[in-house]
Amino acid sequence: MGVTTVAVVGGGLTGLAAAWELRGAGAEVAVLESGRRAGGVIVTERRDGFVVEGGPDGFLAAEPDIQVLARELGIGDRLVDPLARGSMLWDGRKLAPLAEGQAAALLGIEGQTGVDVNQGFRSFKGGMGDVVEALLARLGSAVRTGMGVTGIAPSRRGYRLSLSGGSAVEAEAVVLALPAWAAARLLAALGVVAARRLEDVLYYPSVTVSLAYEQNGFARKLRGTGFISAGQPGAAVRACTYASFKYPGRAPEGYALLRAFVAPLDGDPASVAHAELAKILGVTGAPLWSRAFHWTRGVPRYKPRHAEHVATMRELLSRLPPLEIAGAGVDGAGVSACVKSGRAAARRLVERAGAPNYESPANRRSGPSAVDRRQAASGGQTQEARS
Ligand SMILES: Cc1cc2nc3c(=O)[nH]c(=O)nc-3n(C[C@H](O)[C@H](O)[C@H](O)COP(=O)(O)OP(=O)(O)OC[C@H]3O[C@@H](n4cnc5c(N)ncnc54)[C@H](O)[C@@H]3O)c2cc1C
Repeated sequence: MGVTTVAVVGGGLTGLAAAWELRGAGAEVAVLESGRRAGGVIVTERRDGFVVEGGPDGFLAAEPDIQVLARELGIGDRLVDPLARGSMLWDGRKLAPLAEGQAAALLGIEGQTGVDVNQGFRSFKGGMGDVVEALLARLGSAVRTGMGVTGIAPSRRGYRLSLSGGSAVEAEAVVLALPAWAAARLLAALGVVAARRLEDVLYYPSVTVSLAYEQNGFARKLRGTGFISAGQPGAAVRACTYASFKYPGRAPEGYALLRAFVAPLDGDPASVAHAELAKILGVTGAPLWSRAFHWTRGVPRYKPRHAEHVATMRELLSRLPPLEIAGAGVDGAGVSACVKSGRAAARRLVERAGAPNYESPANRRSGPSAVDRRQAASGGQTQEARS
């Protein structure tokens, strides 16, 4: 059985951000990720000079948390601004401009309260994978993939987490950075019956299809960063991002990259997407290649009173040994909201533990962290969770 001070369950952006914050506080942390790779729904593939996003491709420019994190990780210089602004609405006959921010809301990526959606979006030079790769490089072996948590039970130390392979980890504190339905199951089995309410969070299925074209294969000039469809009967494409017109470096010289959001359908989503885009955008050439990502559970949508239920749940959890919930399933679907949520959960745990050396990486202007100082004192050995 392994022993770790804090177990972060789920290695998506939320879990990695929580682990980064915990590391800064000097906690021994292990991120337990069930998949073969960390990053969750952030999937960036780079091929032949193209940057292909399977999940998120950017974030609201006015939301600071992911940008602050990027600077702490030393990749602030990889933040990029869009090449174009504004989205269009496809009503089945024509494309007409949409107000800034309306596109994000229509796609379910709503800004945090008080955020100015009019500032548009930003991303990273190498795609959203940049931030995941930087976190993984800094967290090192604290991130363990192929480790699905199947159960959580109280233990003398705090919690005992059962893993899919049959082993277990003991932890003094836990951050659940999981999709809502997965957190609901683990918490309900722990006796927090109210957590079943998290199953009310709906994750809609969708498919994202990236299509590469020759740049001269368009009969018309594309305006803005993409379009959203008003939803014509029988149409499969719900939205399209003009990826290589939106951010720099998404396609090599002479080529264009589009990304369509398609409703789940029978048959090949790429050929359906191409056929519809050809009509809407005047694409004349055939795609050079395509890449589809199937999201059986994509972006979460909350029911009314969600925030109230989450607050009640947090109140119940505060009576247990330290255990926090975080992530898109509870605190907002946008990537910046996930960073904020993961770090805030980590800070609450640290504050509860009354860590004497706590020094949030966000507040660290310069100089070594508490962890760095301890590592130096121990001859440069990194403090990884033991297993
Ligand atoms: C197609 C798509 C496009 C999007 N576009 C944007 C965008 O442009 N801008 C934006 O801001 N947001 C966007 N979003 C939303 C945003 O990307 C997500 O809400 C956010 O990345 C979720 O991060 P997370 O860490 O909370 O969850 P996830 O990324 O879902 O991570 C949860 C992790 O937990 C793991 N896990 C599950 N069960 C277990 C278990 N039992 N034990 C251990 N690990 C487990 C999973 O494998 C996963 O890695 C998009 C989402 C999708 C799907």
